[in-house]
Amino acid sequence: MEKINTGGEPRPLASAAPSGGEPRPLASAAPSGGEPRPLASAAGSGRKSRSFSGKWPVVVADSGGDPWYSTSEADFGAESPLFTSYDEPMSEHSTFKVGGTADVLVRPPRDIFPAYAARLLKAAREEEIPVFILGGGANIVVSDRGIRGIVLDTRDYNGVTKQQDGSVSVLSGTSVDDLTGKLAARGLAGLEFLAGMPGSVGGALWMNARCYEKSVSDALIETEILNENFEKQIIPFRAEDFSYKKSLFQNRDVLILSASFAVQGREPEYIRKEIASYRQDRRDKGHYRFPSAGSAFKNNRNFGAPSGKIIDELGLRGFGMGGAQVAPWHGNIIINTGNATAGDIKGLMNEVARRVKGERGLELESEILFVGEWGD
Ligand SMILES: Cc1cc2nc3c(=O)[nH]c(=O)nc-3n(C[C@H](O)[C@H](O)[C@H](O)COP(=O)(O)OP(=O)(O)OC[C@H]3O[C@@H](n4cnc5c(N)ncnc54)[C@H](O)[C@@H]3O)c2cc1C
Repeated sequence: MEKINTGGEPRPLASAAPSGGEPRPLASAAPSGGEPRPLASAAGSGRKSRSFSGKWPVVVADSGGDPWYSTSEADFGAESPLFTSYDEPMSEHSTFKVGGTADVLVRPPRDIFPAYAARLLKAAREEEIPVFILGGGANIVVSDRGIRGIVLDTRDYNGVTKQQDGSVSVLSGTSVDDLTGKLAARGLAGLEFLAGMPGSVGGALWMNARCYEKSVSDALIETEILNENFEKQIIPFRAEDFSYKKSLFQNRDVLILSASFAVQGREPEYIRKEIASYRQDRRDKGHYRFPSAGSAFKNNRNFGAPSGKIIDELGLRGFGMGGAQVAPWHGNIIINTGNATAGDIKGLMNEVARRVKGERGLELESEILFVGEWGD
């Protein structure tokens, strides 16, 4: 098998534009100060966080001074350190750039990712600690109160391998935009339509992301997952498992590890031009002008018009709530004008949906996922 990219370099953090931006440094791996605190369920049960060490692979290490959270990546023979951060601001991990903190964000390095994730997910289930799987954070609004439990960040699990049958196998944390560039360099066509779309391959499969009349599932051959029993499983593509912005993964509690896609050989220069035109089209449509999560509402054939057009017709372009606004140039993009809270975004989406329902009798369905502790 031929490695296209070893994927060693970390890709930029989630940002509105998937390429071209400067990578921003992550928050420090050390806790922001003070005593490490137990995770949610441990606190409730009166157990100390130290008691997790045998149960799940985050341990408290004593570095000579104050105790600090470290990890047991050495147990897995990892070559690079596992990133763990407590009270991690989720605004740095979502393209909307809003939201409170996650109790703990864990980002395993690629060489140990499946084994580590399996152990972490199993232990978390035993301890009844919720886990949110984070791709590129391009389709989520994290609540202002943040996320209780663990965020498992897939970003470092990235890379592409050309297989003997001509297909490509892609690790789930790979940025879809980077993927299109890497395939172009090798003269492999078939996924250009995803160029410029923020997010990871895992997130795109979970969402069955769609653009330019094509869905990610159109090129899918099979998906490798960690199933509900934390075992690796191959799921061959079946058309009935996917539909408009829907995938079987939305009905299961699994981690997508990798996927194989069908590609065809073409002139690299031709593919590069295609990619450039898709990226340019998104720039022209204002996708990266402000932080957002792309389309706010799903389209529905039965409505007779795209959701954005219906919102436009009600004169809601530019309509705002706090720091959130319906993009003045597109009815179906909600933007963070700079100081939006997650609550502003949710409130604005509710109000837009309410007006569409009131004036047209149509029930808009949110495409954006509301993640974390909302208290409603
Ligand atoms: C400017 C802009 C333009 C956009 N344009 C489009 C567009 O044209 N078409 C479109 O469909 N979307 C679009 N989007 C939305 C977004 O890019 C896609 O939905 C994307 O596929 C989300 O991927 P992600 O990795 O960021 O997922 P995230 O937002 O991180 O997560 C989305 C969901 O997937 C789950 N998930 C992520 N990775 C895994 C995994 N490995 N295993 C299991 N579950 C996982 C998460 O838990 C979550 O439930 C756009 C967004 C922006 C900001």
